[in-house]
Amino acid sequence: MASSYSIKTPNLNTGIYHIEKYYHHIFAGDKELISLINKLGLGNQLEWLRGSTGYYLNGKIRPMNTPFEILRALPFLDVLRLARLVMKARAIMDTEPYDEITAKEWIIDTAGESVYNNFFLPLLQSKFGDNKERISAAWLLGRVRIRSNRGAKGERLGYLRGGFYALVEAMAESIRKRGGIIRQGNVLKIEVSDGSVRGVVVDGERIECERIISTVAPQVFGKMLSGLDTNINYQGTACALFGLSEKVMDDVYWLNIKEDVPFGAVIEHTNFIPSSDYGEHLMYVTSYFQNQESMLCKSSDEELIELYLKGLEKLFAGFREKVKWWRLHRDMETAPVYEVGYRKKLLPYKTNINGLYLAGMFSAANYPERSMNGSIKAGFECADIMP
Ligand SMILES: Cc1cc2nc3c(=O)[nH]c(=O)nc-3n(C[C@H](O)[C@H](O)[C@H](O)COP(=O)(O)OP(=O)(O)OC[C@H]3O[C@@H](n4cnc5c(N)ncnc54)[C@H](O)[C@@H]3O)c2cc1C
Repeated sequence: MASSYSIKTPNLNTGIYHIEKYYHHIFAGDKELISLINKLGLGNQLEWLRGSTGYYLNGKIRPMNTPFEILRALPFLDVLRLARLVMKARAIMDTEPYDEITAKEWIIDTAGESVYNNFFLPLLQSKFGDNKERISAAWLLGRVRIRSNRGAKGERLGYLRGGFYALVEAMAESIRKRGGIIRQGNVLKIEVSDGSVRGVVVDGERIECERIISTVAPQVFGKMLSGLDTNINYQGTACALFGLSEKVMDDVYWLNIKEDVPFGAVIEHTNFIPSSDYGEHLMYVTSYFQNQESMLCKSSDEELIELYLKGLEKLFAGFREKVKWWRLHRDMETAPVYEVGYRKKLLPYKTNINGLYLAGMFSAANYPERSMNGSIKAGFECADIMP
């Protein structure tokens, strides 16, 4: 979960800091995660800060935090239609029926083509790329609901100062204190006989066990044990992190983009968490991809970074000169595609094999949007039903 890079920097006394491989923040409604943070004694590191958003449109960054800023960026009638859509979305308590229609259809029906093209299309493009037209309205409604911690000055987002690395470490420490043993390795096989779990093979070594909770994507799970009946599609992420000598955007944390560039969003982390925590400026540049044939997946790290840099130069002239270092992280199974009919594909915690349980992004707790909170909730709910 939210694994981190450890970056060496001469600019801090500690000489090292931890930063997520993929940008992460949390929302006020992330109840299980916030409760776990408090239980592990990290509550004083959790801060709620303004996560300003912007929209790159027609060659300019337009801040999109307050009603006034949205009014300036969109045609007046679109703003009224957008406000009506948000009110309607918030009033919908049962999103189940909306799993059967696309977000595109629902937006156009509710607010018209212009709101879809000018406001939602870049969001859907940045989140789902070529799958954007298949995404369900249920996903969109879930998304509107979680983005509710918005005051007059914009949205407040949570971050664990020092990085979510601290949470992973604290969880590991708490497991060890209770006598648990953590072993890191590649699970190659799950052994089952007479309908019951017997063991796992980790990096060639067999470990006997009676119960397993698997948290990996179904496609990965299928390589360990055949027979899991699922057709959940996942998408991959290609996320670059740039260490920079100077800030790039004025006061924008999250930038959605309507421009022909090979990435969907730019996230200037140090416009959210102060750069003094790191001794430098940090920016993520990210894109989702739909299959392993995508060049976002196939090209070498250097080729992809060059592609991103060309796009960045288009948006921010002189960007290259600010780059001190970069890292690139890519994974295929980073998010389920919340397409129409997805709800029926959710996997239950209990399987029909004795002792085998599943809890992860594919669980009901992560519907209609996956998050750290959803996976923690799935983990607790799954543990609760285990004998
Ligand atoms: C770009 C990006 C940005 C995100 N931003 C946010 C955010 O701001 N807020 C938020 O709440 N969530 C965010 N998320 C989502 C969040 O990271 C996930 O929902 C969460 O990490 C899922 O946790 P998990 O433990 O279920 O799955 P994962 O984190 O995918 O954990 C599964 C683990 O299994 C391991 N694994 C795979 N195969 C094997 C094997 N054969 N043997 C052993 N181990 C294996 C993997 O390495 C991985 O560590 C983001 C995700 C991405 C990709």
